[in-house]
Parts: sequence; structure tokens; C-alpha cells
Amino acid sequence: MRALGSLCLALLVAACAAVPSAPDAHFQAHVAQVLEEMWQEFPEYAVRMGNYKYADRMTVPDAARRERVIAFYDRQLAALARLDPAALDASSRVDFELMKNRFERGRWEQLTFKAWQWQPSTYNVGGDFDYLLITDFAPLDQRLRFFLARLDKVPAYYAAAKANVSDPTLEHTQLALRQNKGSLAVFGPQLMKKVDASGLGAEERALFARRLDAAKAATGDYIAWLTALETKLEAGPARSFRIGKALYEQKFAYDIQSGFTAGQLYRRALAEKARLHDAMEIRARELWPKYMGDAHVPADRLVMIRVVLDELAKHHARRDRLVQVVREQLPRLAAFVREKDLLDQDETRPLIVRETPLYMRGSGAGASISAPGPLDPTANTYYNVTPLDDAFTPEQAESLLREYNDWTLQILNIHEAIPGHYTQLMHANKSKSLVKSLFANGSMVEGWAVFGEKTMMDAAYGGGTSEMWLSWMKWNLRTVVNTILDYEIQTMGLTRDAAIAMMTREAFQQQTEATEKWRRATLSQVQLTSYYNGYAEITALRDEMRAREGPAFSVKDFNNKFLSYGSAPVRLIRELMINGR
Ligand code: ZN
Ligand code: ZN
Repeated sequence: MRALGSLCLALLVAACAAVPSAPDAHFQAHVAQVLEEMWQEFPEYAVRMGNYKYADRMTVPDAARRERVIAFYDRQLAALARLDPAALDASSRVDFELMKNRFERGRWEQLTFKAWQWQPSTYNVGGDFDYLLITDFAPLDQRLRFFLARLDKVPAYYAAAKANVSDPTLEHTQLALRQNKGSLAVFGPQLMKKVDASGLGAEERALFARRLDAAKAATGDYIAWLTALETKLEAGPARSFRIGKALYEQKFAYDIQSGFTAGQLYRRALAEKARLHDAMEIRARELWPKYMGDAHVPADRLVMIRVVLDELAKHHARRDRLVQVVREQLPRLAAFVREKDLLDQDETRPLIVRETPLYMRGSGAGASISAPGPLDPTANTYYNVTPLDDAFTPEQAESLLREYNDWTLQILNIHEAIPGHYTQLMHANKSKSLVKSLFANGSMVEGWAVFGEKTMMDAAYGGGTSEMWLSWMKWNLRTVVNTILDYEIQTMGLTRDAAIAMMTREAFQQQTEATEKWRRATLSQVQLTSYYNGYAEITALRDEMRAREGPAFSVKDFNNKFLSYGSAPVRLIRELMINGR
């Protein structure tokens, strides 16, 4: 398979070029062995990362499986404990830290956090099956045979799911319902048409049809079971989705790997919110006459800012053209980055804008990037945009269109695509360190996308108008308020009404956006802080490097260098950039 061939080549080149010292060579050999074990233990993860060796295997999440997974983490942590990180070079030391964090986190998730028990939405087979169909890593016949082998396990998978779920939250039960219903679309009539038109023999096709019926029945059974569960939970009592302070600090430490504690970041965010309000007041006052003529200026500055933002929001795309408008903007962003010489791009890796697949909808996000794994960096990258179809009422659609108006839609595209997630992941996939690509730090990834927005603004993107700046500030305020909301919701009991009031009054959000964000905040924990945390850390590092290098400092060199280390925690990248290795 193409992906494996290019992986071996990449590793050989890296090994030859670097001429590692004995401890580093020993460590990298250890890494290779650990990864080989990981592909076997986590075949679905392997496929997502671009290793297709075990693409015909499906893991059944039962108790025996959990024992194996915990034993795997224990074994890996014991092996790391026998190594001396002080003897390694800086890059290997970062790999060491990433692996240690990854295995400790995995162990903690199994034994302490236990989402497998209280989040029924953990269980959903649709995404992994669909991935085999849409990823062109082998001839279709072969991928259909992998599909066929995996289909056999679907009934056991959902039986294990039902056995695992205990004391779930209503919110995760409802998400599980919605997404598993979406998964049934993967098993829809067009699949059997594809099988019948394939090179599979008559017996294989018959077996496929039988297993598909059983898989559909098992999924349907889980949906029915969840529906009954939902009714019971709605009548109450049900577990709270709020995880509390102790678990929150632990999850923050494992997931964000920040230089800050969760409490420190929360206090920084409160101060940043106040600063943004000051800056927005200046821009809004300047725009007032242009949009409001000599209308009376409200005494409450938040109300005044809101009025100007509402005027800007009236300029937006047509409901049926949203996906198309996104598609048209991307080449313009690439041209601007090239013209301003902000960082390297790769024209040979196309970004394909598509409508978000059904099984991915419903978790609240309107746009996302599905990137190829580091082992298969030439696979397609998709920019998923959720079309405003019949799932949205006219009022909801209008509210979202105003939220993603002519200015903010551009910032969204900068964030998701260029020079945000798409560009960053393209750089990460070229990194020589597989560990840094595989064990990506989400806060660095999200922080980069936010930092990319500011980089474009600093380069006078959109003409550097006050409309563009005010829109960006509102957008940036969202990442700051996400941090505040997440912390207050999960650890301080912030109510739905108070949260929505904060989002609409203090962060100027539309009602639909705010209620969707509330939903997301009930379904995830800590993740909403990752944006602001990463942005704050990268900005501080950029300022530090600028101060060190003085007039020799180059934005492009900083960006390329920063991205060259892969998706590692910012504080570890800082070590590498400062120590120069
Ligand atoms: Zn409108
Ligand atoms: Zn993002």
C-alpha cells in the first residue's frame, strides 16, 4: 500500500540525515516498536492515521477489551520509565513527554474519567465504516472486503455498548441517538448498489447483504434502547453533565498540556474580555456615523457595540449559497498569504470543500477540517461545511447567516483553512517526528488557527477596515468567552440562562449560536479552552522571539519554524525553538 511505502522511506531519510546519537537511536527504535503495537491494539485509530494494515479489524468495546487497553498503557509507561529522557536530544525528549502524557491520559480515561460508562455517544460505528468507503487507500473491492470483515462485529459492538452504559447523562444520550441515526445513512441502499457493481463474487455479495442486515438491525436496536433510556432520563433523575473542579483540573492537565492551570487561564480570560470590550468600543464609535447616521448613541457601551455589529450582520451570503461562497473564498486567502509572504503553502495538496457528512452533524460545529493522517499525507483534506438545509428553520438559518456574515465568514475560512487548520496540518504532516504528528496537542492546533486569524489581521487582511477589525474582535472574544464559559459551566454551576446571557450580551452572539454553544459545552469538557490557551501561548512565544531577534525577526521564518515541529504543546515547541535543536 502506498502509505506504508512512503512511511518507510520517510523514516529512512530522517534516520540517515540526522545521524542520531546512541540514546536517540535506541529511543527511536523503541518508538517504532511502540507504534507497531499501537496499530494492532487500535486498528480504527491506525486507519485514521493512515496505517491500513489492520483495516479489516473492528474492536468490540467490552470489558476484556478495556483490560487489554489498560495493560497496554501500563506496559508502555513501564517501558518509558526505564529510559532516561535527560540523555535524549531536545526533539526526542519532546516525543518522550508526548508519549508519557498520552499513555497516562489513556489510563486515566479508562480508570477515572470513564466516558465509556456515562457517555452513550462514545458508541457509533458509522464514521469508521464511511472512512473505508471514502478514503482511496486501496482498490474499492479490497476496501469493501475490509468493510465486510468488520461488519461481522457490529452486533457484538452494540451489545457491549449496552452492557457498558450506566448512569449516563441525558445530553450524551440524546447526542448518541442523533448521531447513530445519522450512521444508518452509511448503511443505506447506495452501499449495496456499490457492492453489487463491484468485483466481489456472488457468495461475498450474499454474505455482505446478510451482515449488513444484521448490522442495521443492531444499530436500530441501539437506537431503540437509547430512545427508551432518553424517556427514562427525561423523567429524571439523571447524572449531571458537569464534571466538577477536581476532574476538570485533571482533564485540563492531560488534554491541554498548558503552562497554566485551568484556574490561571480562567483569570487571564476574564482580563482579556475586559481589554477586548475597550478596543471594540473604540471601533464601534468610529463606525457609528457610517451605519447609524446621527441616531442617538446608547449610553451602555455593550448595547452600542451590539447595534453596530447587528448592522454589519445584515450583510451576509444567501442561505442556499453558503457552501459555494466558502468554496470561492479559499483561492483568495491563498493568494493573500502568498502576496504578504506569511508562510509556506503547498499547492499540490488540494482542499476539498464538501457538505458535512450526516453522521458528523449535530455536535454543534458548523465547519470543520477532516485531514489525512500523518502516515498517508497525500490523502484528501476535506473542509466540511454544514449546509443550511431543512434541518434549520428559516429563523435559525437567518441567525447563523448573520453570525457568519460577509466579514466573519472570511475569518471562519482563515481559521479552518488558510493559514489555519488546513495549512498547519499540512506542515505537521511533513514533520520528521511521527510522534508529534500522531499525538497532536489540540490546544496548539486550535491556538494556531486563532493565531493565524490575528496574523492575517496584522497583515491588513480585508483592507484593515474597522468593519474587519470589529468583526475579528467579536470573533476573538468568542474564544475568550469559550474559556470562561467552559470553566464556569463545568466547575461553578453556571446555569443555561446565565451562560446564554453572557454569550449574547457580553460576546454579542446570535441566539442560535449561543444555544448551540451551550449544547456543545454540555457535551465536551476542557476542549473549549484549547483555542484561547494555545493562542495566548503562541502569541507570547512570538513576542519573545521577536524581542530576541530584533530587526532580524521574520514573520514567515517564525511561522514556518514554529509549524515544523508538528502539533506539539506550545511550551515544548518553545524549548526546541529557544534551544535551537
Ligand atoms: Zn438576512
Ligand atoms: Zn478550530
